Amino acid sequence: MDIYEKIISMAKRRGLLYPSYEIYGGEAGFYDYGPIGILLKNNIENKWREFYVIGERFFEISTPVITPFDVLKASGHVDEFIDEIATCKKCKNVFKVEELKNEKCPVCGGEVEKGKMNLMFETYIGAIKKEKAFLRPETAQGIFVNFPSLYEFFRKKLPFGVVQIGKGFRNEVSPRQGVIRLREFSMAEAEIFFDPSNKKHPRFDEIKDEKLKLVDENDNEYEISVGEAVERNIIGNEALAYYMALTKKFLISIGIDEKRIRFRQHKKEELAHYANECWDAELCSERFGWVECVGIADRSAYDLKAHMKATGVDMRIFKKFDKPKKIRKKVIKPKVAEIGRKYREKAKKIFEAIKNIEIENEIDEIVLEIDGEKIELDKEYFEIEEVEETIAGEKLIPHVIEPSYGIDRIFYFVLEHNYKEIEKEGEKYVILSLPPEIAPIKAGVFPLVNKDGLPEIAREIEKELRENKIMAIYDDRGSIGRRYARMDEIGTPYCVTVDYQTKEDDTVTIRFRDTTEQIRLHRREVPNWIKEKCNL
Ligand code: AMP
Repeated sequence: MDIYEKIISMAKRRGLLYPSYEIYGGEAGFYDYGPIGILLKNNIENKWREFYVIGERFFEISTPVITPFDVLKASGHVDEFIDEIATCKKCKNVFKVEELKNEKCPVCGGEVEKGKMNLMFETYIGAIKKEKAFLRPETAQGIFVNFPSLYEFFRKKLPFGVVQIGKGFRNEVSPRQGVIRLREFSMAEAEIFFDPSNKKHPRFDEIKDEKLKLVDENDNEYEISVGEAVERNIIGNEALAYYMALTKKFLISIGIDEKRIRFRQHKKEELAHYANECWDAELCSERFGWVECVGIADRSAYDLKAHMKATGVDMRIFKKFDKPKKIRKKVIKPKVAEIGRKYREKAKKIFEAIKNIEIENEIDEIVLEIDGEKIELDKEYFEIEEVEETIAGEKLIPHVIEPSYGIDRIFYFVLEHNYKEIEKEGEKYVILSLPPEIAPIKAGVFPLVNKDGLPEIAREIEKELRENKIMAIYDDRGSIGRRYARMDEIGTPYCVTVDYQTKEDDTVTIRFRDTTEQIRLHRREVPNWIKEKCNL
């Protein structure tokens, strides 16, 4: 068994992950989180919130999974979120074109037929009208379409960030990599809106000395400080670089091995339709090699511009100049008497409509729609004048920097990077050396033997821990060694054992997962001690 198989088998045995719909033969690209797994996943997501919501002062929102056609047409996903596929004429398997071997089927060597496939799952809204819709392929669009309200919420001040944690759906062509490539997966995305002329980051100084391992678009490798990478223009701007450094800090905080993190820049042909620069945080697996787990992209004004074009809703911000500027501009002057004479009671509406027209050059004709009627005005009814105007600022579409995290892949790597096999007295044990903060269960509580009142005391201690909001599990099955082993395997950092001495002096032993070292503590101290160790 390789590491992946060992982890998946442990994950199933211990309630972390189950293949979805297994009793029906399973469904590729879907995985269930079991009772222990979901605790770990929630802890990872909450740690992410601690970084992005508390640390960065962003706010979280939650928007629907089902997304109307028009939204994803405007965002480019309907036309561009496409994989090139190849179907084997002989064995009928379907592959991504890049998986082919010498243009032949990688399974049977047969001839293939090429085609294209949109990766979005289609659905419909409503019973009668059947409006076409999709399951969202990313959470980001839910944030972009709310930009005008969010800009108000943040009191019209840039930069600001909005995050969303939720499901994303992609009908992957051939998900053969288990939990690494899913068709339904959890994403944690942050969309940070910047002034397009200023992608400097206000907190850049805090991270500029952090070292990153980089592979740029030309496959050059660097081990370099964030500050130097921006100075040498390897990373395009401070904002992107800041979130790369933050990503590395987050990954280390949840137990990812620092040596197995690198950032790889997308090559031009690899960039998603919305991105103009993108760096993937890749994590190294013994089985899969380097795998993209976080995409950190400069999406520029792409999405807001697209939604503004599609809806006509103003997605621009007003940027005040340091000093007001004088500009000369052309304006339309309606000829009041002529319009009044011809259009009579409609004249007032015509004047109003003309006021809202902005022009850059001379025009010979104005076409208006007033109360459903088309009105064409030629030069007999207006003239163009040049005027001087003082303006306080300009309207701009913000640029977006987006770190996009795939939680399920990160979850898998937390398992792989912390999976340790040790041999003790000829037997193999597995330890999952998770940081206590993200461990699903913080403490196992055991009576040394199942008699003489020890189980009752142990149950009381477990109850006290839970009253202190600590996830603790009481266990009296099997030998004490086996109970420790079960806890080690799911990464429980501490085990509390009640023995005969407890009855005399109210102390218990605390055993440490990674060292098997034991200390004695008064039982009253246990809850706070665990809280402190687990940063609760
Ligand atoms: P992207 O929007 O393609 O940059 O994806 C953002 C993140 O979502 C990636 O870095 C992955 O961690 C995750 N992701 C993308 N596709 C999948 C998938 N099919 N299964 C699991 N995670 C995925």
